[in-house]
Amino acid sequence: MTKVRALVLERQHELALRDIDLPLDVGPGMVGISIHTVGVCGSDVHYYTHGKIGPFVVEAPMVLGHEAAGTISAVGAGVTHLMVGDRVCMEPGIPDANSRASRLGMYNVDPAVSFWATPPVHGVLTAEVVHPANYTFKLPDHVSFAEGAMVEPFAVGMQAASKARIAPGDTAVVLGAGPIGTMVALAALAGGCARVMVADLAQPKLDIAAQYQGIIPVNIRDKNVVEEVARLTEGWGADVVFECSGSPQAWKTIMELPRPGGTIVVVGLPVEPVAVDIAGASIKELRIENVFRYAHQYDRAIALIASGKVDLKPLISATFAFEDSVKAFDRAVEARPDDVKIQIRMPE
Ligand code: ZN
Repeated sequence: MTKVRALVLERQHELALRDIDLPLDVGPGMVGISIHTVGVCGSDVHYYTHGKIGPFVVEAPMVLGHEAAGTISAVGAGVTHLMVGDRVCMEPGIPDANSRASRLGMYNVDPAVSFWATPPVHGVLTAEVVHPANYTFKLPDHVSFAEGAMVEPFAVGMQAASKARIAPGDTAVVLGAGPIGTMVALAALAGGCARVMVADLAQPKLDIAAQYQGIIPVNIRDKNVVEEVARLTEGWGADVVFECSGSPQAWKTIMELPRPGGTIVVVGLPVEPVAVDIAGASIKELRIENVFRYAHQYDRAIALIASGKVDLKPLISATFAFEDSVKAFDRAVEARPDDVKIQIRMPE
């Protein structure tokens, strides 16, 4: 164990920047990483404000943070594709490579997955971490650490776009313009959608999404999204609907949005079970897909960012120094409608 300074969630509502013992031995197949930038995720904030997410309860002090980029500081035995000094970002979930889910290629739904900052696993808001080399991805020179730390949430958008099986020229609808809804919209455009209607109540969120070519913002305070989709598609419906709001309200009319034979991709999770209009889905033979985090998306997410086809920089709203981590979290708790992603930078 090594004593390192970290942002520790002591218990619900209580954060501390303090020393904690973490295992930093770089074993075979592992790499040491000096952390540079960490994004604050909705899940980190939720553990802070609620002390739990579903079955995951904070019962012991836990280091927060799972959206990270940094520089390789040590390389374990057998690692051949990374060198000290490489700039990287990391996939935060490590499955059991021999599990049945992993062998099926669905390592994200391996029940044994160990995921940063999901109790009892520590996260990465600290100077140094050790991680499997196979879940550590090199960043091209022109992709910044800040962008590298955005790969994690963007990978969720990539997973949603992949599950949608988008065809070139498709019309998509994204319900919810939060950080994940916006990432999904950008991945859908990169995946070939001609246009993506993004619906939300908060105008500042829509304004941020509308900066991107191909996004059509719809404020559902003054417009009806069913009517807007019908108008845009001459009554046919959208090829793909991404539910990213997690709002039970969205489920009341969602079956009216896709075209016959269209697809709904469920990304947002309602806190309580919701009623689903099975008959509405049935008469259109809709395909309904679910997304849990991501699998096999990091390399392609990085390739899209590196190509310039996806620019995530406008989504970084504020950057705090590590010393001000608690302030960064309190700002995230405010949930300002024009904040998309808040990041924390480690001292150089
Ligand atoms: Zn995240």
